[in-house]
Amino acid sequence: MATKPITIVGGGLAGLTLGIGLRQRGVPVTVWEAGHYPRHRVCGEFISGHGQETLSRLGLRELLTRAGAVNAATAAFFSAAQSAPPRSLPARAICLSRFTMDHALAVEFRRLGGELREDQRRRDGDFGEGIIRATGRRAQTEENGSRWFGLKAHARNVVLTADLEMHVSPRGYVGLCRVNGGAVNVCGLFRRRAGAEVMPQNWREWLRGEAGSPLNQRLAAAEFDESSFCAVAGISLRPQRAAARAECCIGDAITMIPPVTGNGMSMAFESAGMAVEPLVAWSHGEIPWVQARQALACRCDAAFARRLAWAKWLQRMMLTPSLQGVLVRFVSRGEWFWRTAFERTR
Ligand SMILES: Cc1cc2nc3c(=O)[nH]c(=O)nc-3n(C[C@H](O)[C@H](O)[C@H](O)COP(=O)(O)OP(=O)(O)OC[C@H]3O[C@@H](n4cnc5c(N)ncnc54)[C@H](O)[C@@H]3O)c2cc1C
Repeated sequence: MATKPITIVGGGLAGLTLGIGLRQRGVPVTVWEAGHYPRHRVCGEFISGHGQETLSRLGLRELLTRAGAVNAATAAFFSAAQSAPPRSLPARAICLSRFTMDHALAVEFRRLGGELREDQRRRDGDFGEGIIRATGRRAQTEENGSRWFGLKAHARNVVLTADLEMHVSPRGYVGLCRVNGGAVNVCGLFRRRAGAEVMPQNWREWLRGEAGSPLNQRLAAAEFDESSFCAVAGISLRPQRAAARAECCIGDAITMIPPVTGNGMSMAFESAGMAVEPLVAWSHGEIPWVQARQALACRCDAAFARRLAWAKWLQRMMLTPSLQGVLVRFVSRGEWFWRTAFERTR
């Protein structure tokens, strides 16, 4: 029987990784991508979790190393009033700009014979047999009376005390990490009350933090690369189950984990990796589509349910102003708390 082709809608990390995995198994794949490569994306660019194993399995870890991925071994937490010393990360992470990473994966997908349609948004809502939704987060304007938005820019002239710095404040959090090319990624997730303007104009002020805060001091001499600035709004952080989706989904199209965990990209890689076997079996005519879709959804839910629950709790704590100082103290002094929070959210 002929190998049936697969169409992936969305050429972000999940879509491209799945495309590469399927091409490695000889399945014909077309990826539709609304944007183009390379381009900057709103992302902390800190990759942590089991997704690194998926990358290794698909031979992509080496690709990212060659692209300049920077190892991260320490993290430090700060609130407006408290600073914690750096701690070792319980497991190694890597940092790489999305500008470089998405492009490297796109080149690899094409090298393996995949068809990549850039600047082509697929408009029909058909996600039937052979079509995968890898379209990223689902936009939602408000959640519990708040609007979430994310900002990102690369900067130079920033000296960090740890490979990853997390700065929490009543309006959200900002992560700083070194990426390839000597730049520091400055990425924040913020919330505003419903009814406020969707996106603030003064993005530098939001990223620099309040006057006198450790974040503001850290970025005092920062020189932002204006061309790297990007923003997203309409973020929903309510956990969803893959089995509840009618379509065959991977990555943020299933659900988005709070960015504070630095695990969203890992989930994109992991879900793509888990999709390869059932989709190859469908493509070879060994199982029907509904079985492939259900097998993938079950695997994703089994792998992600616990970390989504922990991440929701951690995010809530981080955004409660009265708990932020306590959290920074716990992370800096309590080995058990730090390890548990880290391990359970990945
Ligand atoms: C503020 C913030 C900080 C973050 N920081 C981190 C971090 O430090 N570490 C981490 O691991 N994760 C982080 N994340 C999460 C991470 O960015 C996502 O989990 C990851 O990008 C998901 O990959 P994806 O492929 O599912 O989606 P995406 O990377 O969003 O890709 C989806 C693609 O689909 C395309 N698309 C959408 N609709 C269509 C269509 N109809 N037709 C064609 N193409 C379409 C889009 O153009 C896009 O390229 C962060 C997120 C935010 C918002």
